[in-house]
Amino acid sequence: MEKKKNHQENAHQHRALIGFDDHGVPKVLVPAEKEAHTHVDENGNLYEHFHEAEFTEDYMKAVAEYKKTFPSRQDVLDRTPDPAVRQMMLNMEQIGVDTTFDRFDKQKPMCSYGLSGTCCKICNMGPCRITPKSPRGVCGADGDLIVARNLLRSAAAGVAQHGMHAREVILALKWAAQGKLDLPIIGEYKVKSMAQAFGIKTRNRSVKKIAIDLANILLEDLSRTEPDEYQTIKACAPAERQEVWKKLDILPVSAYHEVFESYHKTGCATDGDWKSIMQQFLRCGLAFTFTGVVASNIATDSLFGVGDRVTSKVNVGALQKGYVNIAVHGHLPLLVSQIVKTGLQEKYQNLAKEKGAKGIRFYGICCSGLSAMYRYAGVIPLSNAVTAELVLGTGALDLWVADVQDVFPSIMEVARCYKTTVVTTSDSARLPGAEHIAYDHHHSNIDQTQKIAERIVERAIESFEERQGVPVFIPPYEVEAEVGFSVEYVHKRFGSMQPLADAVKSGRILGIVNMVGCNNPKVLYERAIIDVADVLLKNNVLILTNGCAAFPLMKLGYCTTSAYDKTGESLKEFLQPDLPPVWHVGECIDNTRSSGIFAGVAGALGKNIYEMPYGFTSPEWGNEKGVDAALGFRLMGVNSYHCVEAQIQGSANVIHFLKEGTRETLGSVMHVDTDPVSLGNKIVEDLKAKRKALGWD
Ligand code: SF4
Repeated sequence: MEKKKNHQENAHQHRALIGFDDHGVPKVLVPAEKEAHTHVDENGNLYEHFHEAEFTEDYMKAVAEYKKTFPSRQDVLDRTPDPAVRQMMLNMEQIGVDTTFDRFDKQKPMCSYGLSGTCCKICNMGPCRITPKSPRGVCGADGDLIVARNLLRSAAAGVAQHGMHAREVILALKWAAQGKLDLPIIGEYKVKSMAQAFGIKTRNRSVKKIAIDLANILLEDLSRTEPDEYQTIKACAPAERQEVWKKLDILPVSAYHEVFESYHKTGCATDGDWKSIMQQFLRCGLAFTFTGVVASNIATDSLFGVGDRVTSKVNVGALQKGYVNIAVHGHLPLLVSQIVKTGLQEKYQNLAKEKGAKGIRFYGICCSGLSAMYRYAGVIPLSNAVTAELVLGTGALDLWVADVQDVFPSIMEVARCYKTTVVTTSDSARLPGAEHIAYDHHHSNIDQTQKIAERIVERAIESFEERQGVPVFIPPYEVEAEVGFSVEYVHKRFGSMQPLADAVKSGRILGIVNMVGCNNPKVLYERAIIDVADVLLKNNVLILTNGCAAFPLMKLGYCTTSAYDKTGESLKEFLQPDLPPVWHVGECIDNTRSSGIFAGVAGALGKNIYEMPYGFTSPEWGNEKGVDAALGFRLMGVNSYHCVEAQIQGSANVIHFLKEGTRETLGSVMHVDTDPVSLGNKIVEDLKAKRKALGWD
């Protein structure tokens, strides 16, 4: 009888632990006296788990509330901040083609089990779903285990995606150094400085020989099977963090290994402990960060150079009729760089003119455009991935080059309407109806890079001829943006990191926030990013940005000095006369540049990163890589802030792990608020708390 009573009390207590806030975001309501003390226990467990798994009606109620926050297409039309997006959406309506926002509406109501992460289809005994009446799947997996496994598989997918990006650019560096790929190594300084960090001999050695050694080390971290030191972590991570990660036993073997291990341990009837799954989740975060992001960045900057701060035109108003218009879309820089260089050659400009065009112009979608724009003049960023199809709907593009990642299959329908030729360039990413002018699976034609680039530019000119008479609609919105900020630029501009660090310490800059991430129709398109940015700038927070989130900031003038009217007085004083309040650092792998600035400023003040008034926000994040990107910063001790919830609502333990449980181990947590203004205020409040702890009040 006594036992039954205790169980009932416990059950009541567990139910009380689940709730949702005013904006429908589920959270664990931890009674003050039950506040978790997170540590590594005597059994090596990462985190003390004190909630028993119990799936109750409250979970479903929380998910139902969360769903109510999703906007409709009409909400987007009414409130998205870029007028060009609104006009292009109406244009698509007129021609009768669906957009992301129409398709999102048609998916409603979204599946509550999917949203809460409690649908499992890992084995063929399922799919199983967790409900109050069926708290375990056929194999006995409970909500905690199912949610944790699903989350880990997303994180492992992110490691694979950025890991393949890393593989492409590291191999390109190695092959260029070996002469297999006919490309100069432009970033000689980067090769030599990184070689020093990795302990590679540089004296009396050619840059090519050093680059081969550097590439081999990066490839080893990507693919090692026999446990050994992860050299990129050893060379690039702060010593304090390396100790933290070692203590938690989350240092990865290699990126390939951790993806294998994630799929291995999440298989049916392998790892049955959600805590062990979350420990692997943290390992994936490190593999993603140090191979997918840091190694990609090292190889890219080594091969193509760091680039410099430049002024770029932005948005669809920069599209010009009468030119052979080529858009590059995706993530891989190698072929993009050759296509752009080739198209800008006099020979091809003249060829285009012979066919009746005024010349050839290049535009960028998603990260391919961003990495190109600060290295090659004249690649104009137009859109992030979610609204790429709207850009095609202008009818102004003759050729669309798609490589890998964030290329929605929906673009093909619009391309067909406007006779735009789509060319795929990677064996990893094909699109039905696209022409495939690409590297093969084994890269046996890597020495044909220049020929492939020429064929693509020639195809664009042919497409221009074929498309005569296709209607073109270009909304008249075009601005300029300052782009290409980096650690190197800060040194060039200020002589060292010290002036920036002093401004942070004195409070002229309240803190620095890295604002990134893709977009998601679960929040108002681009509005969430802008609303968070407005709160931060008003409170004198300097913003760094890259990837898809950078597009609204560029398009709406935040990357120029015209945005001074949005900033607090002390930030404006620091930035005047010519620094914008949002520093655009590049594509998504250029998170390395942001973390480099974080580390440089902290180092100049003799502080650790986790102590500093820093934040990471991806307000509208949507894809699997976004899970790892935020985790990467949390592993560094920087809180992450979002307006979109992960699919974890079905597990109090996983929610608690992410939103509170790593505070003591990593010095950081995840915070979600579907209201962007409220999220911005929370970031400011947390930055102030960091300053107070440092005695910088
Ligand atoms: Fe169901 Fe378990 Fe199979 Fe998942 S692994 S589908 S919970 S039986």
